[in-house]
Amino acid sequence: MPLTTEEIALDHGFPGTRRSVTVHRFGPATAGADRPKAYIQAALHADEIPGLLVAQHILARLRAADAEGRVRGDIILVPYANPIGLSQAVLGTAIGRFALSSGINFNRDFPDLAAAVADRVMDRLGPDAAANVALVRHAAREAIAAWETATEADSLRKILLGLAIDADVVLDLHCDSEALLHAYTGTESWPDASDLMAELGCRAVFLALESGGNPFDESCSGLWWRLRNRLTTSRPGGAPPLPAACLAATIELRGRRDVDDAQAAADADALIRFLTRRGLLAGEVAAPPTPAGRATPLAGVDRVRAPVAGVVLYAVALGDTVTVGQTVAEVVDPVTGVRHPARARTPGIVWARAEQRYTAAGAIITSIAGDRPLAEEGSGLLTAR
Ligand SMILES: [Zn+2]
Repeated sequence: MPLTTEEIALDHGFPGTRRSVTVHRFGPATAGADRPKAYIQAALHADEIPGLLVAQHILARLRAADAEGRVRGDIILVPYANPIGLSQAVLGTAIGRFALSSGINFNRDFPDLAAAVADRVMDRLGPDAAANVALVRHAAREAIAAWETATEADSLRKILLGLAIDADVVLDLHCDSEALLHAYTGTESWPDASDLMAELGCRAVFLALESGGNPFDESCSGLWWRLRNRLTTSRPGGAPPLPAACLAATIELRGRRDVDDAQAAADADALIRFLTRRGLLAGEVAAPPTPAGRATPLAGVDRVRAPVAGVVLYAVALGDTVTVGQTVAEVVDPVTGVRHPARARTPGIVWARAEQRYTAAGAIITSIAGDRPLAEEGSGLLTAR
């Protein structure tokens, strides 16, 4: 089957409504489990628009590759991952990060499948790593199929995770408020993901095994190291070989307003080169370019918070390198006119700023990529649940 397009309906919607996701599948006509699989989705946070445009450019390139018979692996593209969020607005402002009905963050609290998969495979894993990977993927699909959801948001999570869980590569396209292109991935996926980041011109990569929020990418990739940890603990004689078989990354396509057709086409070209290098598409690709940034621990990110409520005046630009104690912004108290400095706690590169120029006290206004952990792994390293 060259290209199929399917609509998958969400469960648990309100009477008289029907929501669905569109799923494009590319792959060779011959059956075979021995080829790579990639899964790409856009705008799980539905108000993060750059990915919606990049997905359309990817779709056009995949259609062309398909017409030329160049698709070698299985590729799934979900061009909009969150029909619930896409329908939300308050007084003209789109709200796509949180569900208005419940307050949940659409990219948090995906299930940790390690326990359910461990129960299914514990006594069946052997010395063959490839066979173990196939067994785990099968068990993970079963575990997701057995998930009895009760809300529309969980129904969506089940659909997306079911499409992605057995992929070698999972790319979740997001954006930040105002930001450089940056990405989140698993510590175990580094430096494997370095060519992906180099192709994209990624300026900062944040590594964690446990972010504390269980976002979509970590639910896919974290299964492998969480499962290995369980097996190591429960089988003192030595765990069977189990590689981290899923490279998953959340790719933040700059800021909310960075919706530009030429930029989106270039981003899609970068992702197509990556897919080609990984054997999903036939063709030759040059070595990846020199990396534009570095990987640092997610726990090393300094989230600089506003000392008071007021008007934000930034003293640094995106991409600036700052030192400890440097003022990154002043917050002007609109009552007294007093200017309160917000300072860096770590040296590093400024990779994100809040686009709003009026802030609440304690809100995050700037993010800096530091080398040394400021927080504990797993302690809620991501913003806004
Ligand atoms: Zn997002």
